[in-house]
Amino acid sequence: MCGVFGYVGEEKKDLSGLLLKGLEKLEYRGYDSAGIVVLENNKFKVKKEIGEIKNLKKVLQGKKYSGSVGLGHTRWATHGGVTKKNSHPHLDCGKEIAVVHNGIIENYEKLKNKLEKSGHKFASDTDTEVVPHLIEERMKKEKNFVEVVRKVFLSLKGLNAIVVVSVSGEMVAFKNGSPLMAGISGKGNFVSSDIPTLSNEVDRIVLLNDNEGVLVKKEKVILISAKSGIQREAKGEVIKMDEVKVSKGKFRHFFTKEIYEQPEVLMRVANNNEKEIRDISRLINDAWGTYFSACGTASYAGLAATYMFSDIAGIHVNFAVGSEFPYLENLLEPRSLLIVASQSGETMDTLEAVRAAKRHKSKVLALVNVPGSSLSRMADRSILLKAGPEKCVLSTKSYIAKLSLFLLIAHTMSRKYKVGVELIKNTSKKVSLMLNSVLEKKVKKLAKKIVNENHIFVIGRGINYPTALEGALKIKEASYIHAEGFAGGELKHGPIALIEKGTPCIAIVARDRAKESILSNAMELKSRGAFVIGVSPEDNSVFDFWIRVPEVGNASPIVSIIPFQLLAYHLTLLKGYNPDKPRNLAKSVTVK
Ligand code: GLU
Repeated sequence: MCGVFGYVGEEKKDLSGLLLKGLEKLEYRGYDSAGIVVLENNKFKVKKEIGEIKNLKKVLQGKKYSGSVGLGHTRWATHGGVTKKNSHPHLDCGKEIAVVHNGIIENYEKLKNKLEKSGHKFASDTDTEVVPHLIEERMKKEKNFVEVVRKVFLSLKGLNAIVVVSVSGEMVAFKNGSPLMAGISGKGNFVSSDIPTLSNEVDRIVLLNDNEGVLVKKEKVILISAKSGIQREAKGEVIKMDEVKVSKGKFRHFFTKEIYEQPEVLMRVANNNEKEIRDISRLINDAWGTYFSACGTASYAGLAATYMFSDIAGIHVNFAVGSEFPYLENLLEPRSLLIVASQSGETMDTLEAVRAAKRHKSKVLALVNVPGSSLSRMADRSILLKAGPEKCVLSTKSYIAKLSLFLLIAHTMSRKYKVGVELIKNTSKKVSLMLNSVLEKKVKKLAKKIVNENHIFVIGRGINYPTALEGALKIKEASYIHAEGFAGGELKHGPIALIEKGTPCIAIVARDRAKESILSNAMELKSRGAFVIGVSPEDNSVFDFWIRVPEVGNASPIVSIIPFQLLAYHLTLLKGYNPDKPRNLAKSVTVK
């Protein structure tokens, strides 16, 4: 999921500063380590450090590297541990070629063995390092750098984006699967993993298709076809994308800031473009077989949508997570519709599901938060979540945006658009009332009580079964406490064996047809000694601890997830971790 950023242009006094600024914006793609390379008098100056960009900054101790060619990388490790030697950029033996990479080179072991037999010495355990050595090897026979990089790129299996720079100052990049774009300005040209990072630096963006590459020169950008090698000058297009300047405001972390923005997000969904919602609802109604696929939090929003579509619109949706969807693709046909959702619009596993649908000529509808993202470009139809920039690695407001959008679409599909809009507006009001110091105090009290537990279980039924999964995910990914969500009815088929005296179990109890059954499930847990926490509009004798949520009918997954978001936040603070950047995670997951 790494982020790549490169510059070729007019001499910059503080080129290292420019690279670091770019990398900071790309840090959501991974923060295991970071590195830069700057060309100085035909020699590479490389600096790397483990952890966030701020660590790399410390290593530089305010030193500025000047130059006109430079490359940077922020890493989310896939192959090789989180160490300095595995940080990018990676060099060849002669230290004349530097490479940064996003993706996984599936055939790297075979390539590495061959290179080692020919005498190449590897300095890292990464898959990436085969690239500079392959180029070095090929350059022995062939002198055209662009052609050599192109041929080496074609020899790589998997979904990859590579950016290569040589000591002669040539910068070449290619992509297949992983995102990559170039930016053109009057004073120099860029490559980057995303558009927002470029938006402040360039006038025009060159969006690369798979199996395309660029030669980045000082005065122009040349597009290259990876298959044929044919080159033409890239003109680029103007993409209006304001630089994402977001501050934490009065909040300590983006996590809480984004939780508190949720009423506003709901209002934005309620005030969506009516025609767009009606068109999309028609698209779903007309499909012969509707499928849903997404990953992580987005997948739970999709699972909730299957209940909403069934309950409200009487439509069945087949659900599978992105990474599993391609194994079920044979059910697809041209009249099928695949609905996908992704905050970044770059989630590789979700893109794979879309590729599966394309193989069967099925239609694709995408819900994304980032305009111009790969998913919105690949889909036949896409709709923006309008959740605003989500900086915390953990999804909160984009989850709420997806849930409410699905709720509105389900209502529209059953000719109740206005009812849907009113429900979401009303939920927005109730969410803004519930987000107050009383709830915070209550959740903090609970967090203190359970912070030293090793396991937390969450149960829900029906439309709140996905809430149980998402609630448990929030807790575990932020606080690293093992939390597991279950369908309430499933406990007795196995997981109940894990319950001991005092085990915290959270039951989501809405005022719906699942209410009596989920209360019985909570009682089953209590009978085995569990400490039962209820998330519900009303108290019940089975609850040892009660967190009140407002009554909002079908919108209950929206209000019920909020106590979990806050609980995850307070548990994380008590544990002393950074809630905005949990270990091992990245905001945009662009590897399979
Ligand atoms: N496979 C490369 C590494 O582990 C790049 C990883 C990525 O793009 O996430 O360094």
